[in-house]
Amino acid sequence: MGSREADCFMKNLPLKASNILPYLETKWLGRAYYYLPEVGSTNNVLKEMAASGKRDEPATGTIVLTDYQSRGRGRLNRRWEAPPATSLLFSILFRPPWPADRLNWLLMAASVAVVETVQRQTGLETGIKWPNDIVIQVDGVWRKTAGLLLEGDFEENGRCRTAVLGLGLNVNIPPDQLPTGSTPATSLLAAYGQKIPRVSLFVDLLQRLESLVETAEQGQAPQGLWQTYLTTIGRPVQVTNQSSGQVIQGTAVATNEWGQLVVRDENEQTHTILAGDVTLRSKPFDNSSECR
Ligand code: ADP
Repeated sequence: MGSREADCFMKNLPLKASNILPYLETKWLGRAYYYLPEVGSTNNVLKEMAASGKRDEPATGTIVLTDYQSRGRGRLNRRWEAPPATSLLFSILFRPPWPADRLNWLLMAASVAVVETVQRQTGLETGIKWPNDIVIQVDGVWRKTAGLLLEGDFEENGRCRTAVLGLGLNVNIPPDQLPTGSTPATSLLAAYGQKIPRVSLFVDLLQRLESLVETAEQGQAPQGLWQTYLTTIGRPVQVTNQSSGQVIQGTAVATNEWGQLVVRDENEQTHTILAGDVTLRSKPFDNSSECR
């Protein structure tokens, strides 16, 4: 990279293809790249592209990225809010010929890639809050800085046809524009004190993610590495199943290869918790402090 190019790379440039593709060193991830200045939800756009495309189109690794989502989604149709041009908001299409339980490997690989990229670029203490949040420790509090959303579409035999992984990462959201819900939030700007060039962050993230997905495709679960970054293990949790209303109180003691959480309750019984239909609480007996 020449010095003029390096300078461009470091500036906070718009994330259109001409600013990304010259720096991308991946083989297949992001090679098909669509930048939309504004969109409802990048996951929805990519799911529609997959539903209307010919067989095997769009290709695995296709990315849709936007600078503003008017209807960004988290789990359980919760809103994902971010001011324009402050974040990384994108979705990736995968076509892994995997059964449903293995699909979570993509979520784990992407979580690891985000944690390691943020740590490498900022040195901030970064972790994963089970099942799908990336958190940064600021003044002793883990604050949410990114959320991931994985949506799969399956064949009749249970194999995955397509999987869309969405990511919202708070990069340069000013502290006074962070969402003020019940979940403490932060951005890299708020936690690090300096703006981070989104292009270099994005390109680094894709490079790391491609390598992690390739390892998973060779049959190796990302769980070992993923679990080292989990902030939830050893903590008291209360897990509420949204559909049945069942509540389990106990301690998060482990995860399994599929990314499910093992919780030991007060009677020493263990429960294996599936992500997707539960929310976690940080304290077992305090219903007011939901910990997202
Ligand atoms: P959960 O932590 O329960 O998995 P989701 O991943 O579904 O939550 O994300 C949606 C939730 O994240 C919202 O209900 C809101 O509390 C919070 N949120 C929305 N936008 C942001 C943001 N930019 N940064 C941090 N948290 C956010």
